[in-house]
Amino acid sequence: MDKEIRLRFAPSPTGPFHIGGARSALFNWLLARKTGGKLVLRIEDTDLERSSRESEENIMNALRWLGLNWDEGVDIGGNYGPYRQTERLNLYKQYTERLLAEGKAYYCYCTDEELEAERQELAARSQMPRYMGKCRSLTKEQTASYERAGRKPTVRFKVPAGRQIVVNDLVRGDVVFESDGIGDFVIVKSDGIPTYNYAVVIDDALMRITHVIRAEEHLSNTPRQCLVYDALGFARPVFGHISLILGKDRTKMSKRHGATSVEQYRRLGYSPKGIVNFLALLGWAPNSEQEIFTIEELVKAFSMEHVAKNPAVFDIDKLNWINQHYMRQMSEEEFFEAAKPHMIEKGCMTGQEDGEKLAWLKKVVYTSKEHVAYAAQIPSAVAMYFDDDFDFENEQASAVLTEESVPTVMKMLFEQLSHMESIDAANVKGVFKHIQKTTKLGGKSVFMPIRVALTGNQHGPELTEIIPLLGLERTIARIRRSLEKAGVMSL
Ligand code: GLU
Repeated sequence: MDKEIRLRFAPSPTGPFHIGGARSALFNWLLARKTGGKLVLRIEDTDLERSSRESEENIMNALRWLGLNWDEGVDIGGNYGPYRQTERLNLYKQYTERLLAEGKAYYCYCTDEELEAERQELAARSQMPRYMGKCRSLTKEQTASYERAGRKPTVRFKVPAGRQIVVNDLVRGDVVFESDGIGDFVIVKSDGIPTYNYAVVIDDALMRITHVIRAEEHLSNTPRQCLVYDALGFARPVFGHISLILGKDRTKMSKRHGATSVEQYRRLGYSPKGIVNFLALLGWAPNSEQEIFTIEELVKAFSMEHVAKNPAVFDIDKLNWINQHYMRQMSEEEFFEAAKPHMIEKGCMTGQEDGEKLAWLKKVVYTSKEHVAYAAQIPSAVAMYFDDDFDFENEQASAVLTEESVPTVMKMLFEQLSHMESIDAANVKGVFKHIQKTTKLGGKSVFMPIRVALTGNQHGPELTEIIPLLGLERTIARIRRSLEKAGVMSL
């Protein structure tokens, strides 16, 4: 039997969970589920200043919200723990001692100022800034004198000269790097904390990770990591670097392009199904034209062979189009639940309503079901049911009310509606028919003034939807007010 596929998602808990991180997590999750392999969630918290437990929790909550579960990780444990890097310091230390003893790494006492001076010198000679190996072969005396001076050393990896490092990448094929372009890099900082390029290798090796699927920005780190794998005698995993995510203007996705964190999209009321569907298409394309995928369909269809090399473009219109599909798929209850926090935030409801008021709110909210891309759009989509004090959208609209036939139309409307026990779409339709028949007016001359008088706008939902929701009193009150505003004799 082939060995088990083991994948990992290894976020640094240093801030909001970026949509790109979610995409990496999703690709790993899809592969794990497709192959029957395992997904490990490892927390890379070696940046002590920027890492926080709060951010770790946010990431896990966002993953759960998206429906991306894991098989081993900080919260659930597993056979290869601990799964938080700061709890693995002893492990890293053992390997560092080995590398030092084998002469594959060395202590470096250079100060930040010395390193900066070296960088500037190289830059002045138009050479690539890199560490030139000043501390590679310190004598015992030099070491002792640095120690006496109280300098705290880092540990640097001794990069072998003249080597070609070939990274086999599932997305990019063989990518060749020259070791001569890489200076001896720090693997352990002076406070004893390992650097990313070092800890990641030990973790991936000890956690038996077979496939490292991550963002393209880590491709340039990979040759360093390969050198560490080789030096420690670990087999390298298969790598797959998935393309950058660009904004529509083809610059790197950033805050300028709108919401960038999963949390922001959650707050805007996007469906996790919509986000997952959209993220899957960021860099991966199916064999077919299909764009709407359930998560089960994604697991079936996904493969690294169809992951593209070129950058993925984050197209918010596409996300909205996809998400609208999932909004429409919601049951009315689900849709109302999605709307609720947004309706409360905009002051359209308190959340304490019951009885008739609640039933009315539900009906109002449902009217927007086919028209919104995400839940935060709902309050403005239904605003007209709350605002009796609206303005006309323009002069053209108010002019509609000055037509000669308007008072007759309105009078008939009032009269007909007043006789009804309850107002619904069917009998409103009947009223319109009656008015048209009696006055011999065209449809537009009947509908348009009523629409403008009720909403201030010449476009909008069906009147047969609006009038039953406004009810008799508000319908009459709105029409009276609008006629007055338009300077038409009051009824
Ligand atoms: N902690 C790294 C990051 O968040 C993970 C990189 C990797 O997957 O190797 O970018």
